[in-house]
Amino acid sequence: MKSTSNFTEGIFRYRKREGVEYAESQLFDGIRGVAHAFITRRCTVNGVDLPRFTFSSREGDSPEIVAESWRRLSEAFEIPADRFISLRQVHGTKIIVPEDVGRKGNPPVFQGDGLATALRGVALSIRTADCVPLLLFDPRRCVVAAIHAGWRGTAAGIAKASVDLIVSRFGSDPGDLMALLGPAVGPCCYEVDGPVIDAFKNHERLTDIMIDGCDGKARLDLEGANAVQLVGAGLDPARIDRAGICTACTTTHFFSHRKEGKKTGRQLNFIMLY
Ligand SMILES: [Zn+2]
Repeated sequence: MKSTSNFTEGIFRYRKREGVEYAESQLFDGIRGVAHAFITRRCTVNGVDLPRFTFSSREGDSPEIVAESWRRLSEAFEIPADRFISLRQVHGTKIIVPEDVGRKGNPPVFQGDGLATALRGVALSIRTADCVPLLLFDPRRCVVAAIHAGWRGTAAGIAKASVDLIVSRFGSDPGDLMALLGPAVGPCCYEVDGPVIDAFKNHERLTDIMIDGCDGKARLDLEGANAVQLVGAGLDPARIDRAGICTACTTTHFFSHRKEGKKTGRQLNFIMLY
């Protein structure tokens, strides 16, 4: 993926824990107190891939498959399942601060598209299958956030909204924040038309994130659009790692709604202070 700015790019690597495969960014190497993972769709048990390793039953997978996926994840990372906080994601810009709203349900589920916390031992998680998973970390104030940025959330400015919230709620300096933009559908595979093009027409660097095509269509760089927003919100480009991994090109490792349709699964992405 080409970039016109000096972002850190593609320093992700694949790893495995107890058969659970995940991608992680080397940007956090050597930093203690924070754990993160972009879980792939692959979990190996006794040398064989599970037929389905997914974190949502809304696409037709059985609750048992999803429960088994959570169990394997929880065991692999040694994080009790009830320490994960999930969202009912609605493609908006609402960001939940768990310590401000209390815990409801076990595990608690909130409606929104972002989570931010200064609590230790609470894993903020979001599910994706093409949308951008954005993880943020402030090593000075010890704050983390997990954001779900699809085209609607990105057009509505959820990356900027998340930085603004962290600054106002936790007193962070945007220049201290580190950001990971995980595997998402790339401009190679993300052809869009009317409503999506219109939603981005006032974007500050439109020519960098939208490539014009034929018949009123264009290709959108969702990851790039979020990276631009983060820099606009005050982040240092060198502290932003863009994975540059296209989910639609890499269905061996990631679910892709664009490539596989409505029945594709959902991968989990999380970040936690410990
Ligand atoms: Zn692609």
